[in-house]
Amino acid sequence: VAPLDMPLLEDSVGVEDLVLLEPLVQESLLKNLQIRYEKKEIYTYIGNVVISLNPYQQLPIYGPEFIAKYRDYTFYELKPHIYALANVAYQSLKDRDRDQCILITGESGAGKTEASKLVMSYVAAVCGKGEQVNSVKEQLLQSNPVLEAFGNAKTIRNNNSSRFGKYMDIEFDFKGSPLGGVITNYLLEKSRVVKQLKGERNFHIFYQLLAGADAQLLKALKLEQETSLYAYLNREMSRVDGMDDASNFRAVQSAMTVIGFSDEEIRQVLEVTALVLKLGNVELSDEFQANGIPASGIRDRQGVQEIGELVGLSSEELEKALCSRTVETAKEKVVTALNITQAQYARDALAKNIYSRLFNWIVYRINESIKVSTGEKKKVMGVLDIYGFEILQDNSFEQFVINYCNEKLQQVFIEMTLKEEQEEYKREKSIPWTKVDYFDNSIICNLIEHNQRSILVMLDEGVPAPGVVSDSTFLAKLNQLFSKHGHYESKVTQNAQRQYDHTMGLSCFRICHYAGKVMYNVTGFIDKNNDLLYRDLSQAMWKAQQPLLQSLFPEGDPKQVSLKRPPTAGSQFKNSVAILMKNLYSKNPNYIRCIKPNEHQQRGQFSSELVSSQALYLGLLENVRVRRAGYAYRQGYGPFLERYRMLSRSTWPHWKEGDRKGVEKIIEELSVASEEAAFGKTKIFIRSPKTLFYLEEQRRLR
Ligand code: ATP
Ligand code: MG
Repeated sequence: VAPLDMPLLEDSVGVEDLVLLEPLVQESLLKNLQIRYEKKEIYTYIGNVVISLNPYQQLPIYGPEFIAKYRDYTFYELKPHIYALANVAYQSLKDRDRDQCILITGESGAGKTEASKLVMSYVAAVCGKGEQVNSVKEQLLQSNPVLEAFGNAKTIRNNNSSRFGKYMDIEFDFKGSPLGGVITNYLLEKSRVVKQLKGERNFHIFYQLLAGADAQLLKALKLEQETSLYAYLNREMSRVDGMDDASNFRAVQSAMTVIGFSDEEIRQVLEVTALVLKLGNVELSDEFQANGIPASGIRDRQGVQEIGELVGLSSEELEKALCSRTVETAKEKVVTALNITQAQYARDALAKNIYSRLFNWIVYRINESIKVSTGEKKKVMGVLDIYGFEILQDNSFEQFVINYCNEKLQQVFIEMTLKEEQEEYKREKSIPWTKVDYFDNSIICNLIEHNQRSILVMLDEGVPAPGVVSDSTFLAKLNQLFSKHGHYESKVTQNAQRQYDHTMGLSCFRICHYAGKVMYNVTGFIDKNNDLLYRDLSQAMWKAQQPLLQSLFPEGDPKQVSLKRPPTAGSQFKNSVAILMKNLYSKNPNYIRCIKPNEHQQRGQFSSELVSSQALYLGLLENVRVRRAGYAYRQGYGPFLERYRMLSRSTWPHWKEGDRKGVEKIIEELSVASEEAAFGKTKIFIRSPKTLFYLEEQRRLR
């Protein structure tokens, strides 16, 4: 048996498990994380939950040596590590036949994507050998650079920020060798395609393509190398320190090949990417119809011509689709001219749509390659890397859905943690279960997603109309319905006493989320939810000769006369969240809570204020409370006896009557109060940290 290396009390590195924190308050929790962070101990447990602080530097704690170590020891025997969690998850999947999921949450820049890659590389390193297996592993791992190229971007908070949520099921056979997987993506931030904040970039792939393509490819794609020539690329931000776009481009191409994209498919993907860039350069001009009504036209024909040649489209068709709009009624077709503002809006909407559909297609195509076709029963490990709770200066539809998703994840978390505790007590027999009080957030989930009376329902009832009319109607409805709801606030609810709430914007409402209050501005909600693309545009795209582009716009097929409204962004998201929740509930959860230690992407800096707010959103204190509501600490009889046998004259140096008896003997001789310890089938349970401290203290005195 390996020594039970558990320096709980070494003040220099704080406690390795926050369950042992005394006193249990926010300050001590922060102090403990800070002490550890300063010692480069970035991982800390809450029971089986791993808290991970972003080190912003390469630490020498990864790689084959460490993988080998964590593979051979059980959870508490080594320092806290993501590998330990990955190991537990993989082993119980393999040996106990329980499907696992690994939920990684935290705010932008906290280290979620890096954590998910550590989990994947750990599992890849330990799960079986052979040519066939290795090629599956390679495909699964190579999906990362491809998805990052098309779905990540430099933001103010993170140079490699994932602008989409990702859930990946990795599937194994009964021996634990990987067979393949399925990736689900959530809500790509497509507004980035046409506009970025100062200091941010568009998606990596655009810069990679321009920097990495050779002269021949550029010519074929009708592109110039200079990023500054493209309206959709942020002119003052074309390079990121430490990021080599050109060599990443080669890596992406080769990753696509490994996954199974044909050269032809890669070419078409790049053509569509180039198309988006070139669309941004289509300049529109003011024009007037004969009757003086404003219209619009294309200022520079060459660009449209080139787009036409690139993907096989007639430039007249494209121009017509960009500058006019056809409304079909039962009897007739009416074509109206768009003014320049409307035409620019249409052009940008088209670019965003093409890109997000391309992204969905790439995920679909990867899934085609990695999907498992055998009918045998599979074991599954799901890895969720998804945006954490967001409170920005201005919160819009995007923050609303992100926070909704986090509200649901919090629900899963509380329910599953409690359930897991309860089940462990049951498994161990005769450990009494005490009810734990916790905040049940289903009231907030209902406010957002209830089938009849909720914000999402009201949102779907909103009809897109020019200007902000529809948004304010939507807000008025919410105010009317929810003015008495305990988790909803607005100008109107404030006004009951004719008091003026200076902090509440006129077009805003607030939700009191489990993690705090967030004010949302409804401007643009209806538009973003409906996400309509003029039919003229989808029909024009469907006419493209290029098969990939055409396939992205099936609704453009004139034979597809469907007057049914496509599902809204909100209802689609609600559906995918529901599927995700069902999936998670069917698995055994493992949590990685990522924390960003400072706003500057700097090593060694620990901002207590920043960490404190994240600890709140992540519900860490609540987590510790739930975890030790019954028994703070538990340990198998064997390892426990090994560590404390020296405390009893009966068990030291030799004890022959079995582990459990030995542990009982120690507890008895040290006169531990009877309510402090409970004996399960395989483990001893200790109620409060102070009892464990007492044992440790005794150990030190010997
Ligand atoms: P977003 O929500 O914006 O996608 P994220 O939580 O996925 O953010 P990451 O992209 O994983 O954040 O991490 C941001 C950066 O922090 C990484 O690019 C890397 O430089 C650094 N980083 C994160 N985790 C580690 C780690 N374990 N070791 C070294 N550096 C890390
Ligand atoms: Mg990420």
